[in-house]
Amino acid sequence: MDYAQNRRRLIRLIRIYPLIALGVLTLAYLLGAFSEQEDPLISQNVIITALYLFVGVVPLVFIIGFITVGRASDKAGLKNNKTHSKLNYNHAFDLPSEVMHGYKLAIITGRAPTLTGLTGDTYLSDASAKCTINKEHVPPVADCECGFYAYSEFAEAKFEGSINPGAFLLDVDLYGVGFKYARGYRAETQVVNELITPRRCQFCRILPAKVFVTTYKLGYDDTSWWQWQIRCVICSSSFKQEDKLGVKEMSARLKLLIS
Ligand SMILES: [Zn+2]
Ligand SMILES: [Zn+2]
Repeated sequence: MDYAQNRRRLIRLIRIYPLIALGVLTLAYLLGAFSEQEDPLISQNVIITALYLFVGVVPLVFIIGFITVGRASDKAGLKNNKTHSKLNYNHAFDLPSEVMHGYKLAIITGRAPTLTGLTGDTYLSDASAKCTINKEHVPPVADCECGFYAYSEFAEAKFEGSINPGAFLLDVDLYGVGFKYARGYRAETQVVNELITPRRCQFCRILPAKVFVTTYKLGYDDTSWWQWQIRCVICSSSFKQEDKLGVKEMSARLKLLIS
């Protein structure tokens, strides 16, 4: 069973829940639940009870769904760990080799555009991972979190992208020592093959995306930063020339292909 896929399905359903609720309310209205009609088609009590049930039962079904999917995936993860712990991590070269191609999300930050992971670490398009927890580590280390991460499935990365609206999808190859985890890989070095831009403007989300622009984001304390977005011609028109970059220029600055 694909737990990640089931989780994605559940979240998608939750997103359309307001629409379903609106539909149900409209139906209730049409059936006369809110009017003082004399002889309604269906008794008002029945409709109101059905509405209460809908409001109470549907969220309960979602909660049960999440618990079930979560439990099943925890169980599978535990089983996975047990079989994995049989691998001798001290001898990395004994690990089964596999082409580690995957996808991940990154934002582009800085006055000079820089790839930045969602956890805040910046990296070049061709880089070796560094451990921020222990300087002695050459990532990835089995019982640490260090290394470059990538999802093995495009659908998974794309879905995560939909909940991180400022992020871009990257197509990456991982090399060197690598570990497999439930959703993908964690490895020593990473080469970004391609940055996949959204088709629509990241601001109005309607018109086609054409130009990269940078805006200054104010954060708490001293954590303000520049963040690049790709926008349509209209939403980028008010930007100064120095705050704009064409796709070709951005591709040259980041040293990677942009499609
Ligand atoms: Zn480490
Ligand atoms: Zn726009």
